[in-house]
Amino acid sequence: MTYLLALIASQQGVEPLILACLVCLFSTFTALCLFERATATTGLLRRGWVAGSAITIGTGLATSNYINLLSHQSAAELSRSLHVMLGSDAIAVLMAAAGLSLAIRFRRPGALIGGALLGLGIAGSGAVGLMALHPEARAALGSGDPLLTWPIAVSLGMIATYLVRRHHSLLDRLTAAIALALAILVTNFVLAKAVELGGTPPAMTSGLVIDRDSLALVIALVVSALLGLGLFGAILDHSLSSRALREAQRLRDSERRFRLLADATFEGIVIHEGGRIMNTNAAFCTLMGLNPHQILGVEMEMFIPKEFRSRLHRVLENTSFEPEELTLIIANGDRLPIEILQREIDFEGRSTGVIAIRDISERKLAAERIRYLAHHDMLTGLPNRVLLNDLLAAKLNDLDLGHGKIGVLHLDLDRFRLTNEIHGAAVGDRVLRTITERLHESLRGHDYVARIGNDEYAVILNDIDRPEAAAQVAEALIRAIARPIEVIGLDLESSTCIGIAIAPDDGTTPEQILRNASLALQKAKEAGKGVFRFFEASMDDRLRARRMLERDLKQAIERRQIEVHYQPLYSSSKNSLVGFEALARWNHPQHGHIPPTDFIPVAEESGLIITLGQAVLWAACAEAATWAAPLRVAVNLSPAQFRHPGLVDSIRAVLDGTGLEPERLELEVTESVLIEETGHALITMQRLKKMGIRLALDDFGTGYSSLSYLHRFPFDKIKIDRSFVAALEQDSEAMAIVRAVVAMGHSLHMTVTAEGLETHEQLGFLRDLSCDHLQGFLLGKPMAVGKLFDFMEGSQVNAALERMAGAA
Ligand code: C2E
Ligand code: CA
Ligand code: CA
Repeated sequence: MTYLLALIASQQGVEPLILACLVCLFSTFTALCLFERATATTGLLRRGWVAGSAITIGTGLATSNYINLLSHQSAAELSRSLHVMLGSDAIAVLMAAAGLSLAIRFRRPGALIGGALLGLGIAGSGAVGLMALHPEARAALGSGDPLLTWPIAVSLGMIATYLVRRHHSLLDRLTAAIALALAILVTNFVLAKAVELGGTPPAMTSGLVIDRDSLALVIALVVSALLGLGLFGAILDHSLSSRALREAQRLRDSERRFRLLADATFEGIVIHEGGRIMNTNAAFCTLMGLNPHQILGVEMEMFIPKEFRSRLHRVLENTSFEPEELTLIIANGDRLPIEILQREIDFEGRSTGVIAIRDISERKLAAERIRYLAHHDMLTGLPNRVLLNDLLAAKLNDLDLGHGKIGVLHLDLDRFRLTNEIHGAAVGDRVLRTITERLHESLRGHDYVARIGNDEYAVILNDIDRPEAAAQVAEALIRAIARPIEVIGLDLESSTCIGIAIAPDDGTTPEQILRNASLALQKAKEAGKGVFRFFEASMDDRLRARRMLERDLKQAIERRQIEVHYQPLYSSSKNSLVGFEALARWNHPQHGHIPPTDFIPVAEESGLIITLGQAVLWAACAEAATWAAPLRVAVNLSPAQFRHPGLVDSIRAVLDGTGLEPERLELEVTESVLIEETGHALITMQRLKKMGIRLALDDFGTGYSSLSYLHRFPFDKIKIDRSFVAALEQDSEAMAIVRAVVAMGHSLHMTVTAEGLETHEQLGFLRDLSCDHLQGFLLGKPMAVGKLFDFMEGSQVNAALERMAGAA
């Protein structure tokens, strides 16, 4: 160092030295700024900045060299050797370019090797230049101080690139610039000194064309201006590009946010231009089962089956503002039902279509399930009546085209209700499932079976050539169902009746054909259990007659043409009249007297029984209210009336309206009421009992009733059916039954009535059996209201009482 300082001090005049230092430092600093720009860019731009940086180093080197030499040589001499200097300078520039490129390419080792190259370039350029100008000094360069310049320049070059690559701080860059400047200056001065020492000192020429100092100043200014311009460019570029960087970062951020949002949604999102997918989100990739790179750039159309493409285009062309339902073909080839909707948005400055895609397969499945439930029976999984109608309509449609015949079978299990009642609904369900299996086993593959009611099935037989074929199937089904069904260790008996209708002979619409099959079924049921019947035209006539009866009955009720007649009831023990049974009468304007056994079932089936029953109840109570107490009135209630939820209230209203005491009203119900819904029937009965009304069990002995369950219901009275009374004289068993019923009734504290009493013998029997109440033509026929007063006042009651007394 001391040597260096001595060297510097030995220079002629200190100003050129300072000038050279400043220019040099300025140039290396600028060069490193340019280099920093190179690190921030890529490609061609980076190469440009590296080249600029290398040239700047070269410029600094040449300038300081020039200024330095000026202190030893005349400007004219120097201008002659300018080309040599430029040539040697080119070496420095090339080496610097190579070194900087290395430094930028590979970080740590690259920076050091690049720095070494840079230093070599600086040292080499000086040596080569000097040797070219002063061949005589060659020997001096090969030893001593000049040799030292190589390691010094290399080390400083390495320090400079290391610093500038280590960090981008200004201090680092300044230190690096000083190191580089030092490398240049040391090389220049040491070499210049060596020439001076080794060779002839340069002649001090007096005839200068221009003043050397001012020339040096001009050169320095020009070079500085050039370098300054470079520095300014670098700074400007830095600030511009950092703005561009910030802008790019902002865009990247906003895109990232958009992507986060897009990926967070459950819907698939596709951004497209003219149908080509430009961007998409995670949900769509998942839906498709593809990676984004398998989707991007693909035409949306490729994922949509041909038949749905027109819908896709409607959406893409914005002609559809409603969501469109279509199908997506996903990676595994499956088809997925989707709903899509498009909106136009501004994406990266361009108007772009955004499609939202929703997987609607679950919605479709739910709809499918609802459809299934609406068309099938849940217990057996069979089609229900709705689906049967559709199937039948389709089949009948085929028949129109001349395809043979089809048979429709209507099955109704015999007494299934009883199975349900006795063994419970769970057992009933098992029985139905077993029967369903057996139906399937007995039918051919292309026949249909549907469950159309609780214990009713319908079968469609396709392509039957003759009616006998349908008969064979019906027989097979009856046999299959008749096999005992084993449930919870019980062998349950079951049987079915079947009605058969053949299309197109017996009808061409589902309604006609089903109605005719069920008419045939009714016929079969009338004939017994396990019977089948074909539809016959006469059945249709009966049905038509029944329809007309229904229409007329409706009118009769509206016009109050239904009358109530009263049949007397006597107490055999007390020898007295106890009351009357109210019986409905219809005198048809054309057909004359129609018996209740004909019109009551029609009223029950059509629902007219509710208004009819209410009318009878009202008339009977109003009439009974005029009788002397404690005469009672008995009114018949059909099962439909009994099931009606408004029954209790309407009876209360009648009693309130007519003023009849509840104790004087007796309601007669049949056993079927008890079998249907035990729980509900019991509650209704208890409510009626609570009001004080009496309850009678009518037609006892005709139903399924066993005496054993009678005690569960709060009856006041049992009416032994008139068929037993009629059989009393010939049938000893009937007598045994009547006797047992009377005993049982008494043990349950019930009054026992015998109805249908026609003969004195019957009367005698019944009195002997201690039957409490008696009713029959022998004692009095049902009579119109108009005759009642005379009856009660007149001799008829007494005659009847006498008859009873006589029998006693
Ligand atoms: P029911 O309740 O068993 O009524 C007794 C039936 O036996 C009456 O027939 C009556 O006329 C008849 N009868 C009475 N004594 C004798 C006799 O000594 N010999 C014969 N052979 N028959 C006798 P009716 O009036 O034809 O009624 C038939 C059925 O119609 C009734 O049977 C009842 O179930 C029903 N019914 C009648 N009126 C009504 C009503 O207002 N409402 C309801 N729900 N059903 C009614
Ligand atoms: Ca009755
Ligand atoms: Ca009866």
